[in-house]
Amino acid sequence: MLDIIQLPVLENNYIYIIHEPESGDTAVIDPAVASPVLEILQQKKWSLTYLLNTHHHWDHVGANTELKQTTGCRVAASIVDQSRIPAVDKLLQDGEQLLLGGLSIEIIATPGHTLGHIVYYISAAQALFCGDTLFAMGCGRLFEGSAEQLWHSLQKLKALPKNTRVYCAHEYTQNNGQFALSVEPDNVYLQHRMERINQLRRNHLTTIPSSIEEELASNPFLREDSPNLQQHINMQGESALAIFTELRRLKDIF
Ligand SMILES: [Zn+2]
Repeated sequence: MLDIIQLPVLENNYIYIIHEPESGDTAVIDPAVASPVLEILQQKKWSLTYLLNTHHHWDHVGANTELKQTTGCRVAASIVDQSRIPAVDKLLQDGEQLLLGGLSIEIIATPGHTLGHIVYYISAAQALFCGDTLFAMGCGRLFEGSAEQLWHSLQKLKALPKNTRVYCAHEYTQNNGQFALSVEPDNVYLQHRMERINQLRRNHLTTIPSSIEEELASNPFLREDSPNLQQHINMQGESALAIFTELRRLKDIF
């Protein structure tokens, strides 16, 4: 139904190439660099229909111009970022649907990490490409938006079906998990997840994708209501937003 290829590039980035076999339509998400993408396209004999960006940071848009020139693909990104996404020619808005063959890709605006951040959700494939908004056991840093904006954005992702696979843009899982354990040490699910993550990383394997279900059970930024977490950061009974804001601050200095 949807082929998904994960390409590790730079120090810890993931580029995703997604291919809808019936139509042959193919998209690349957040290409930092062009050559590994071009290699896969050649190997698979796929031609690029779309280049999709989640946000304007250089390690997500670095290959926009080269890939558009080489493949003739269309470059789609948030309308909010129209002046700072290289080679963009299709502007996307919150709630809009983009078609990849017969597959509908839903655009969800998730400001916080940057003001124009969007994520791509394909419900028929149970897949979410969430850039730097939601990470395995973590979330993006607040470069442009407020904690409140990012918190609201994460509420939208929290509400997606539990079996949704979460394809984030960085391999930050092990460090995120160490922070998660520091604020919620008694979470047994989290302890076991970290054992699996440590094993994967010892073997230099990817920890991505995770799932919404796993994140709900072990990502501290989705778990403000955990008594163990509240107690460990001394915020019993505070609002979810206040707890989230404190967690984001603590992670920045972790
Ligand atoms: Zn970023």
